Amino acid sequence: MGRIFNFNPGPSTLPLAALEKAQAEFTDYKGSGMSVLEISHRSKDFEAILADTQNLLKEMLGIPDNYSILFLGGGASLQFAMLAMNFIPAGGSADYVVTGEWAKRALKEANIVAKGRVAASSEERNFSYLPRAESWDLDPAAAFVHVTSNNTIFGTQYRTFPALKDKFLICDMSSDILSHRIDVSQFAMIYAGAQKNLGPAGVTLVILRNDLAATAREGLPTMLSYATHIKNNSLYNTPPCFPIYIMQLTLQWVKEIGGLAAIEKINRDKAELLYSTIDESGGYYRGTVEPESRSWMNVTIRMVSEELEAAFIAEAKAQGLGGLKGHRSVGGIRVSMYNAMPLAGIEKLTAFMKAFKASH
Ligand SMILES: *Cc1c(COP(=O)(O)O)cnc(C)c1O
Repeated sequence: MGRIFNFNPGPSTLPLAALEKAQAEFTDYKGSGMSVLEISHRSKDFEAILADTQNLLKEMLGIPDNYSILFLGGGASLQFAMLAMNFIPAGGSADYVVTGEWAKRALKEANIVAKGRVAASSEERNFSYLPRAESWDLDPAAAFVHVTSNNTIFGTQYRTFPALKDKFLICDMSSDILSHRIDVSQFAMIYAGAQKNLGPAGVTLVILRNDLAATAREGLPTMLSYATHIKNNSLYNTPPCFPIYIMQLTLQWVKEIGGLAAIEKINRDKAELLYSTIDESGGYYRGTVEPESRSWMNVTIRMVSEELEAAFIAEAKAQGLGGLKGHRSVGGIRVSMYNAMPLAGIEKLTAFMKAFKASH
């Protein structure tokens, strides 16, 4: 069997070019006689991988020089606690825009280690829309404002962000980083688990501006302090070497196909094709979120019955369209189409949707 179109929400599809490159040099990396799995994180070869990955991120995302680029363990989920521990001062609090399950978890961790406050929430309508930035109720004394750019489970996405004057904006970009152009300077911190758009599970990217880093609390456990990782360039302990290497290969692929502008165009084309197929189905397929809040990465769809949805998922799978089952909190179908999903995958999926409608 060949490769399928893999719509899994994460871990998720990776560029074939990156997988094949890793395969070709798997047992003997650049003539070293060793695999990247077997080399020291302090070796010249790994130092070069780390530096190149940072440089590619800088170039693709346009990260200014006053930011550190860190590679940490523990997933985006550890960042929920770590950023609250580091950046909410004793007796202070931070503002959270609650737009889904991951945002709720970020708020929960803030309330374990310090205090988090809800600045806006769309939970009363099962997170089917995004509260507009003008409606966020911000506390002037908040240590930062935390937002989730793309809500992986519910299928909504902020693609623009407010210019918050004199405020630190922190963004969980786990499921849409590198999917369209952003202005990094709007954010004091961006973080992302790699396993949706950047590479495999096991490494979390943190992009942290110096002025926010300077506010970090002291006296935290060494590994939970951003200062440790900044000072040691992510080499205080052994970093997730192999996931970082696959991230490097993934970023090289982004560069080869034309960088972020090219990726953005492909993602827009994919989203337009899929949403227009939904909207032109006469209600046979129903998007679950407000059209203005629709995500380009995760598309949530309901049909008239659960039986029909189950049949859709099973027949799609038989045709090489896998990973389409929706998350239990929305149900139905979820199409996750991260960067490595080509337009051809969405062309095949939308053709299948039309054929399925005609025959069921
Ligand atoms: C997947 C995801 C997470 C969780 O990431 P882990 O690396 O599994 O901790 C957090 N936030 C968002 C938006 C996600 O999509």
